[in-house]
Amino acid sequence: MIPLPLAPDAPQAPGQPYYDPNATGVPLFDTRGEGGRQLGRYFSIDDFARTGAKHFRFARIDERLVQCLDRVRESTGDAIDVLSAYRSFEYNESIRRRGESAASRSFHTSGSAADVRTATPVQQFAVAVYLECGCFTGLGIAPTFYHVDIRPSLVPPWGYSRTNSGRLAAARNVQRRMCGG
Ligand SMILES: [Zn+2]
Repeated sequence: MIPLPLAPDAPQAPGQPYYDPNATGVPLFDTRGEGGRQLGRYFSIDDFARTGAKHFRFARIDERLVQCLDRVRESTGDAIDVLSAYRSFEYNESIRRRGESAASRSFHTSGSAADVRTATPVQQFAVAVYLECGCFTGLGIAPTFYHVDIRPSLVPPWGYSRTNSGRLAAARNVQRRMCGG
């Protein structure tokens, strides 16, 4: 349970600011005044209601993502900094208009994705992710962070521009071995 009130009056119909283009059913919460509160064992509500320095009063937070990161944190023993998690549909569209890289149906808009920074090496991180979060977990390997999302399908790890091909190959090997590709 995410200990926050729902935000039924925030605009979330198709195309509206808090729309969920993936129709995940992850609830939209009102985080006003609650950002500092603990969420899971290692994180705060604010960790999940934010993309970089942009904070969202209304935010979708996927409980499965919180549990996933909690378990990965526990199993690796390394601190995990959440750089970005929820972003509103409206904000995601503005990023896309600026020409920055963001998927039109980014799982960040569903509250089901986080970009995290940790000292854990890629192979160990991938093992922890598939073991602790299951095989229906998206794993993006960026040069300085990992993207993790909870999704309804199996997908091989992907890279971004300037991702080291050896690191990406290491993650893909783990995924093939643990999840059968
Ligand atoms: Zn991401």
